Amino acid sequence: MDRKTHESARLDPGADKPVVCARCGAPAPGGTPPPTWICSVENGSRHYFCDDCARANLRAIEGRLDSSWW
Ligand SMILES: [Zn+2]
Repeated sequence: MDRKTHESARLDPGADKPVVCARCGAPAPGGTPPPTWICSVENGSRHYFCDDCARANLRAIEGRLDSSWW
């Protein structure tokens, strides 16, 4: 019963999937987010943001606004 699609993979990131920036889609080097990346938990799902996006949206992230707001 494997019904995974690209769409569902984006909506529900798993630990076994390559980590990409939730905003610009940049892949994490080595498949794991470096310390400079920010992990934001929204609705029980983890979203990673690369250094550039994290810096650009630091206030929104710290305000715990949903990423869809961007
Ligand atoms: Zn990014």
